[in-house]
Amino acid sequence: MIPVTKPYLPSREKLDRYIDGIYERAWLTNNGPLVQELTQRLEAYLGVENLLLVGNGTLALQIAYRALNVSGDRPSEAITTPFTYVATASSLKWEGVEPVFVDIDPDTWCLDPANIEAAITSTTKVIVPVHVFGNACDVETIEAIACQHGLKVIYDGAHAFGVTYKGESLLKHGDATTLSFHATKLFHSIEGGAIIFKRKEDLERARRMTNFGLAAPEEITDVGINAKMSEFQAAMGLCVLDEIDENLKGREKAWHTYEAAFKSKVQLQYRNPSASCNYAYFPMMLKDQEKLFATLEHLRSKDISARRYFYPSLDIASYGKAVGAGISQDVASRIICLPIFYGLSENDQELIANSVIEIVVSSLGEGVL
Ligand SMILES: *Cc1c(COP(=O)(O)O)cnc(C)c1O
Repeated sequence: MIPVTKPYLPSREKLDRYIDGIYERAWLTNNGPLVQELTQRLEAYLGVENLLLVGNGTLALQIAYRALNVSGDRPSEAITTPFTYVATASSLKWEGVEPVFVDIDPDTWCLDPANIEAAITSTTKVIVPVHVFGNACDVETIEAIACQHGLKVIYDGAHAFGVTYKGESLLKHGDATTLSFHATKLFHSIEGGAIIFKRKEDLERARRMTNFGLAAPEEITDVGINAKMSEFQAAMGLCVLDEIDENLKGREKAWHTYEAAFKSKVQLQYRNPSASCNYAYFPMMLKDQEKLFATLEHLRSKDISARRYFYPSLDIASYGKAVGAGISQDVASRIICLPIFYGLSENDQELIANSVIEIVVSSLGEGVL
């Protein structure tokens, strides 16, 4: 079976050398030298400052809400997108912030800024947009609205590792942007995540929060939790980062094979023309849910696993408040992601592309547009 994704496994020899170092130092966690090295190397690679490594991408979101005073004691609402992985919204709810789902753009599949203002109430504290499938949100419009209404902006950038916007890192936008380094993501540290803050003082508060709220071993300054990344995670991250160009090259090839095969036959995501693509996902939208099931079934019969991302639209979850998310419900019911990962062979890429064409174009007697 061809999986939809496969974790990138870097050189074993190199990983072993890092682990030898961990054994020699007997320093396993608590801001060790590998966590420090990975922090610096990621800042340099991504072209950002104020990057804080944490234990996973969900903690990154939770710590960002806390550090920016969005969650805590007061009633608080966040305007967010229903078309994302559940963690964007569940982390808000977990932090006592009510997610308010506003609808997405039917072509970019990102939160549509035109819907934000109508959803703002006296308890709204933050806008949490998602660069879904690595597609850059309309950051200028979102930030202008936030500025006008005194709201914070925290981007869930879990899909946007390495994406640039107008020649600079997309991840610099907002008061903070969070990343996930889960094993299935483009860049990973087995489990892991990061927050990129606009302001140094927010980074420092967040750093204390990830370490039980301690400013020093005997100085408690904040309410904190344990959100630290370990040296073993950082070792994996360093090895994966060393080989990121290779990884990207492999994905880029598969991405373009698909794009060439489906262009003008299948509806693809309309990508922000000012942003780069990181080839992390290959989503496509089918005509209706029936065709989606038929396509998944056809691919399965050829030993190919495709997956629904992100289904269901989160406004139908048991928590949060929706202010009209019909487009998201429709989009979520019709999108599948095709296998894309480093090491997917050219033969398999062709097999997948041909199998999709067979079902969505030929056997249904029409295109899906
Ligand atoms: C993966 C993901 C997360 C969660 O990250 P973890 O590292 O798995 O906790 C959050 N948001 C989005 C959009 C994701 O894809």
